[in-house]
Amino acid sequence: DYRQAHFQLSAPNRHLLPPDKGIEVAFSGRSNAGKSSALNALTGQSNLARTSKTPGRTQLINLFALDDERRLVDLPGYGYAKVSHTLRDDWQQNLADYLFHRQALKGIVLLMDIRHPFTEHDEVLLDLAEKTKKPVHCVLTKADKLKFGARKTALLTAQKQLAGKPECSVQLFSATEKIGIEDLAAKLDQWFLL
Ligand code: GDP
Repeated sequence: DYRQAHFQLSAPNRHLLPPDKGIEVAFSGRSNAGKSSALNALTGQSNLARTSKTPGRTQLINLFALDDERRLVDLPGYGYAKVSHTLRDDWQQNLADYLFHRQALKGIVLLMDIRHPFTEHDEVLLDLAEKTKKPVHCVLTKADKLKFGARKTALLTAQKQLAGKPECSVQLFSATEKIGIEDLAAKLDQWFLL
C-alpha cells in the first residue's frame, strides 16, 4: 500500500544512503516533469514530495520507506537550463554511480512530460539503465494537457521509441485527472514483489 510511504531521509550521494538491502524503485525525470505530483498521487499524500516551484534546486536523493524492506527513491530533477555544466556532470556521475552500484535498485520510473518526452537527459538515463540492466518504466505525465487522440499518438510514438529495449515499458499519467495511478502501482507491485 503506497499510502504508507513516509519520508526516511535525504542524502547527497549513494554513500550516505541507508544499507544496500531490500528493494528500491527510483523516480527520475527532468525538473518540472511532474515527478513530485506523481509521487504524491501514488501515495495519496499531497505533501510527500514537495512540488518544487524552483526547478533544479533539489539536488538530494530523498527516500520514502514503504516498510522495512521497500523504499521509493526520489532522485534529483535534471535538465534545468540554468544549472551549470559542472552541476550537470555531477548529476550524471551521481546517477551513474547509483545505477551501477546500488544492489537494492530494482527498477526506474522515468517521468516525462507527454508534450516533451525523450530529452537529451532522458536518453542519458535510458542509456545508463540499459548498461546496468535496470528496467525503466516510462510515465508520460500531464496527459490531461492533450486530447484523447493526441494522447494515444504520444503513447504509440513512445512505445515505438522503446521498441528495441525489452526491459522498458510506458504508460499515460495525469496527477490532476488521476489517470494511470493504478497502472503505475501495478508496475511497482511487480518490482517490489507485492
Ligand atoms: P517535478 O519538478 O518533476 O517534481 O514537477 P512537479 O510535480 O512539481 O510539477 C511541475 C508542474 O507541473 C507544477 O506546476 C504542477 O502543478 C504541474 N503538473 C504536475 N502534474 C500535472 C498533471 O498531471 N497535469 C497538469 N496539467 N499539470 C501537472
